[in-house]
Amino acid sequence: MKDFSFKKSLGQNFLIDNNIKTKIIESADIESGSIIIEVGAGSGELTKCLVKLGVPVISFEIDKRLESELSSIKADNLTLIFEDFLCADLKKILSKFSYSKVHLIANLPYYITTPIINKVIREVDISEMIIMVQKEVGDRFKALPNTKDYNSLSVFLQYYFDIEKVTLVSKNSFIPRPKVDSIVIKFTKHKKLLELKNEDVFFKLVRDAFKQKRKNLRNNLKGYDLERIEEVLKTLGKDLTYRAEQLTLEEFVSIANSL
Ligand code: SAM
Repeated sequence: MKDFSFKKSLGQNFLIDNNIKTKIIESADIESGSIIIEVGAGSGELTKCLVKLGVPVISFEIDKRLESELSSIKADNLTLIFEDFLCADLKKILSKFSYSKVHLIANLPYYITTPIINKVIREVDISEMIIMVQKEVGDRFKALPNTKDYNSLSVFLQYYFDIEKVTLVSKNSFIPRPKVDSIVIKFTKHKKLLELKNEDVFFKLVRDAFKQKRKNLRNNLKGYDLERIEEVLKTLGKDLTYRAEQLTLEEFVSIANSL
């Protein structure tokens, strides 16, 4: 990787700390039917550890300058895909493999953390995600109601997953050294999800409810059956003057199921 000119615009901060790589790998619950998706292979430092787990690894990298470096990794279980992950047809790619458990394990390009997570949870039945993200973003994933970090993504993620911190990561663990602190977070799909009649209705409701954070539910949910929503809120001791950030995941589920 000598003379490689890192592109800040692609979030290119490569992990050079072997301890962190080990912690990531050891926190994964890999089974014989597992398949791993890595987004942003970079120079392949994490990829080389992932392939040692012995299950299929599909690694995406947008920067074709990394092609020869990555192609030199000799592993039968590695599939390299040089394209923008956000444009990838995941269902089609995964259909070429047989597997029972999908993992996302990656040191993500931070500028598209949320779109990557949204894509993965909408397009794949994902069992586990172990991802390196910016520390502040990681705090939002775990945020609880009535805190400044609580947003629609916190609700979606908490609906699907148990969320735990694997490790904080110092800026010195990367080359080039980033400006922000990082954290590795592990998401494990709940064994049993809360009962939802229609996931699309739930997703839309939560997104709309948080559309303008300072506005109350009555204002953000114009166009919904507000009478019905008010009825449900009443049973929860709340009303339409509450804001989305004051509702729990279970309360969003109750409202979505009433619509
Ligand atoms: N996995 C490597 C590591 O841990 O050292 C590199 C991680 S680096 C934080 C993020 C990588 O994502 C970069 O190599 C960057 O080129 C790549 N990347 C950025 N945008 C991408 C996209 N839309 N699709 C696929 N890869 C992308």
